Parts: sequence; structure tokens; C-alpha cells
Amino acid sequence: MADSTQALASEKEARDVAEAARESEWENPSFVRELFLGRLRLDLIDPHPPVRDAAEEARAKPFMDRLRSLLERVDSEEIDRSGEIPEPIVQELREMGAFGIKIPTEYGGLGLSQMSYVRAMQLVTSKDGSLTALLSAHQSIGLPQPLKLFGTPEQKQRFFPRLAKGAISAFALTELDAGSDPANMRTSATLSPDGKHWIINGEKLWCTNGTRAELFVVMARTPDVEVNGKKKKQITAFIVEASMPGVSVKHRCRFMGLKAIENGVISFENVKVPAENVLWGVGKGLKLALVTLNTGRLTLPASCAGVGKAMLQVMRTWGNERVQWGQPIGKHEAIAKKIARCAADTFAMEAVGELACALYERGGYDIRLEAAIAKMWNTEVGWRIVDDALQVRGGRGYETAESLARRGERGIPVERAMRDFRINLIFEGSSEIMRLFIAREAGDHHFRTAFALVAPDSSMGERAAAAGRAAKFYPAWYAARWIGKGQLPISYGSFGKLASHVRYIERNTRHLGRSIFHAMVRFGPKLERRQLVLFRAVDIGAELFAMSAACVRAKMLARAGQKEAIELADYFCREARTRIDQHFRELYGANDGAMYRVAKHVLGNEHTWLEKGIVGLMAARAPEAPYREERALAAAGR
Ligand SMILES: Cc1cc2nc3c(=O)[nH]c(=O)nc-3n(C[C@H](O)[C@H](O)[C@H](O)COP(=O)(O)OP(=O)(O)OC[C@H]3O[C@@H](n4cnc5c(N)ncnc54)[C@H](O)[C@@H]3O)c2cc1C
Repeated sequence: MADSTQALASEKEARDVAEAARESEWENPSFVRELFLGRLRLDLIDPHPPVRDAAEEARAKPFMDRLRSLLERVDSEEIDRSGEIPEPIVQELREMGAFGIKIPTEYGGLGLSQMSYVRAMQLVTSKDGSLTALLSAHQSIGLPQPLKLFGTPEQKQRFFPRLAKGAISAFALTELDAGSDPANMRTSATLSPDGKHWIINGEKLWCTNGTRAELFVVMARTPDVEVNGKKKKQITAFIVEASMPGVSVKHRCRFMGLKAIENGVISFENVKVPAENVLWGVGKGLKLALVTLNTGRLTLPASCAGVGKAMLQVMRTWGNERVQWGQPIGKHEAIAKKIARCAADTFAMEAVGELACALYERGGYDIRLEAAIAKMWNTEVGWRIVDDALQVRGGRGYETAESLARRGERGIPVERAMRDFRINLIFEGSSEIMRLFIAREAGDHHFRTAFALVAPDSSMGERAAAAGRAAKFYPAWYAARWIGKGQLPISYGSFGKLASHVRYIERNTRHLGRSIFHAMVRFGPKLERRQLVLFRAVDIGAELFAMSAACVRAKMLARAGQKEAIELADYFCREARTRIDQHFRELYGANDGAMYRVAKHVLGNEHTWLEKGIVGLMAARAPEAPYREERALAAAGR
């Protein structure tokens, strides 16, 4: 069992573990990385990389048609009510190859592209979130993806054919104390004396697909190694079979939404895993998890765009049908704004998601920042859209689809969509962790160039080297952040009506680059602790990326005849500009100090007086009755 007495990792340890797992090299270009450095590299995304490939679409069509036909027959209300996905649906998904969409055909998979895969997930999400969880936990983060990236030929031969046929897999990283912070991981793996096996012990929490998976990717701590006299924590990834003795489902977790997600607490007790089941290499597990997530994160943005489209359909229909105060509610300005914003934001979400995916498909491109922004931005924008859709539907938005249908109205499940959607801002990297990740990667160039100058533990030699690098880089770079094409009123003419927005992007990209530099000079190493300053800079970068994606997509679509796209991109950019301007105005957060004091006092129990007059929600722990539901599951023969 996991040793619960072990101390939690310190902040420094947490940072060191995360730092060691970073992909530290930037060998390939990245539009967003350049953007945070204050340089608009429009050439990297304009013309828009191809999003349509006729041959690929023809290959994907039979599968997409079958998937759509199945989804049309799925009773999502029943899935939501019963909390189970009926076995015949899973079987049909297996038969059409839905568990092997990206697995190469030589191993029995469909061999489709990442773009086809995310479009399939968009289709599924527009109908049923629990089905998306099943398919995407398996293919975005489950075994097929790390196997494709890091598996040996022998491992691919062993596992791909099974996975393609529908052997469901799960990704087991999270633990009770290791949520956003993998340094606290306690699941351990020790090598047997003959070196042939690893013995895994520990417990994983919230493992999606865990309750019905045949295969797991399990992250476990392997013995520390010594580097320059210092102990370094090691995390290793293992392929574990659910049938191996010692693997058991302790509890099936139930949630606010995604009612039929197969998610649980999985226990590993003296599980003997063959040494050849190590993925990539000993000590490379966390890096594997993070690299897997880089591409894995391309799925959620597309799913969010799918939800946006579904909500747009609801808002458009209801905005026309529902008449109050003498006219359709869509004509009242307050509701009109929600509808217009939904259309523009959904357009931008699709632009961001497909651009990131198309850049990945083109190859030779570093997508880690683009994918992280797409995940963070699309999930947050999507959440606001679902909230707006619920408001537009009024009381009917809050009512369940079943109840609506029973009293003779159309059972539109906005309530379920809201419950299903919320988790997107938490898993696969919470919004806060994504912002920290983006800030770290975005500042990497400055970090490498000058950090040693201000870091308290730098040696004299390191400081001198950093001073040399800084003297070489900063004067020319900084001067060039003050002048650019965006100042010329006729530049970016190929964007037509959107040219003024592109000029704004150019000017404000330089502004962002300068602002990050000024913040570094102002706060030095303490900038790391000013999360809100960093997060505002990240939000500016994210909005600039979304604007860029919207403009290049609209230009591409308009050239292909879809001229209406310009109107959506234009309105989106107008709104994004007001948000960016506000973030710049508030970059240093006039109220951040007051905010932190209040939070400190609340946490220090100085405002408990305010909590008087309630019964409260703080339930007691029930340690004497853990995993009650499991007994029911076992009794039901699962
Ligand atoms: C439905 C569901 C499915 C899941 N599926 C999987 C799965 O398949 N495999 C798997 O391994 N995990 C899975 N997870 C776990 C999920 O990835 C974690 O919930 C997530 O990583 C966050 O961890 P936590 O919930 O423990 O939050 P915590 O780490 O406890 O964080 C709590 C809050 O504090 C914030 N926070 C934490 N650290 C910082 C910081 N340094 N700065 C600022 N804010 C911070 C977080 O953003 C969050 O808002 C799933 C979870 C759920 C609920």
C-alpha cells in the first residue's frame, strides 16, 4: 500500500520535478512562443496550414458515417440517468474501429489523422460527454498515444492490435496527494532482485476508464538517482494489465456530470510487471505524461467547439421561437449579445483548435504552447457559452430534458451539457496549471538568457555568463519591440476588413513582449510568485493567439467562398481587443495586494464571523466506510 506517512513534497521539490520533466528544447518554431517574445511570426500560420485533405476525408468517411448513425440512435438521457453506457453501444464502437482511430492500419487500426480523430470527438461530444470520456481517455491519454510516441517495435506489436480491437485503456497519474503536483506521487515501483520485474504498489485516483480498462499506463516512483550529489525523484511509466494479480478497482467515482464515465480508484498491490513493460525508459514517466498530454490536449478544444455549435443551435432556435414582451427574445439586446458572442466565440474556438491541430499535422512544429492555450482558452470560453445558453433558455435551461419532454416540450439538455462541461476546466491540466505552464514556457527565452543574473543561488561565473548573453540579446531585441508593421495604416492589406485587427495584433504582440520584460525587471525572481501578473500576460497572449487564428481562418474560408466568416471574426476581434486592453491596464493589479491580504485573513480564520447563521456543507469524513459502492459493484459481478 502507499505510505501515507510520507511527507508531501516541498514547493521547491514540486518545481524541480516539473522542471526535470519539461521538454526543455525548442528545436522547432512556435507562433505562440514568438508572440510572448513580442514577435509576430504571421508567416508561421498564414496562409493557414491545410485543414482539409480530400484523400484523408474520403478514408475517414465510412467511419464518420457509422459513428454519426450510432450517435443518432444513442439515448443520452438514459445514459445520464442510469450512469452506464450500454454494452451494445461499446461493442458497436469497437466494431467500427472507434478505439483505434489513430492506430496505424498495419496493426488493425483505422490509421486516420489527428484531425480526423478530433473531428470524430467533436461529433461525439455534441451528443454525449460520457461517450467522449470513454473514447478520448483511451486515445488522447490512454495507451495508444504514448505507445505511438514512445513504444518499442515489440511493444507496438504486442499492444496495438489489441487496442485497435477495443481493449480499453486508461491513464493513471493522479493520486490522493498528487493532483496538480506529481512530486507528491507515492505509488512506487521497485525492481525485483533478478531485474525481470517491477513490483508496483499504490493507489490511483479518478482514473478514467479505470473501472473497465484492460490496460493501464501507470506512473510510479522508481528509486531516486543521484545527480551532482543531489537526490532526484524518478517517475517511470508502465504498461499494466488489469488482469495482473494485485490490480483491483476499489471504488467507482461518481460526478456532477459525465454520469456514465467509467472512473475509479485503482489499487496496485505487489503487482508484478515485466521489465519489458516499461514505456520509453526508467525515469522518463513524467516527461512521457507531459508529452502525451501535449497532443492529448488537442482533443478538448475540438470537443468544446462541438459544444459551442450545439449551444448556438439551441440559442438560435429558442431566440427566434420564444416571444416575450412582444418580440422574440433574440431581438432583445441583452439576449442578442449572448447569441452574437456565442457565434463569434464558437468560430474562434474552432479556429484555435483546428489551427493547433493543423500545425501539429504539418509536422516540424512545436505545438506545446498552442495546445495548452487551446485547452485553457476553449474550455473557459466554452463554459461561458454553456452558461449563456442556459440563461437564454431561462427556466427551461435549468429543467432536465426528461422533465421537459414529460410535460410535452422539446427535451433540450442544456442542464446536462452544463454538468458535463464543467470538468473540462479541471482535468488534463487545470486552468491555473495551464497558465503556470504557459507562463513558464513563454518566458523560457528570458529565463535561459538572464535568469542566472538575478537568481540568488547563481555562482559568479553563472552571473557573468548570463550578463554576457543579456548584453548580446536585449539591446537589439528591446529596441525592435517599439517599431513594427502594425503602425503602418496600410499594412496587412491581404486581410481586407480584418487588416486593422491584424495591425492591432502586431502592435500588441510587441507591447506584450515589452510588458513581460518590464515585469521581469520590476519583480526579478519574485515574478514567479506574482501569479496574477503572469496570468494576465498569459491571457493577453491567449487572446492575441485566438485573434490571429480567427483572422487567418476567416481569410482562408472567405477565399473558399465562406465570406460570412469575416463578420464573425471581426466581431470576435472587437470583443477580444476590449479584453486585451483591460488586461494591459490592469497588468500589475492595483488590488492584488488587498486581495492577498483578505485571502490570508480568511485562511487565518479572521473572518469566520461571516460564516455565522448557516448550517453549512462541510460534511465529516467517513473513514470507517470507504469504498462502499465497490461492494455493490462486486455484488453485481463487475
Ligand atoms: C472526472 C475526472 C476525470 C479524471 N480523469 C483522470 C485520468 O484519467 N487520469 C488521471 O491521472 N487523472 C484524472 N483526473 C484527475 C485530474 O487530472 C485532476 O483532478 C487534476 O489534475 C487536478 O488535480 P486535483 O483535482 O487534485 O486538484 P488540486 O491539485 O488539489 O488543485 C486544487 C485547485 O488548486 C489549483 N492549484 C493547484 N496548484 C496550484 C498552483 N501551484 N498555483 C495555482 N493554483 C493551483 C488547481 O488549479 C485547482 O483549482 C480526473 C479527474 C476527474 C474529476
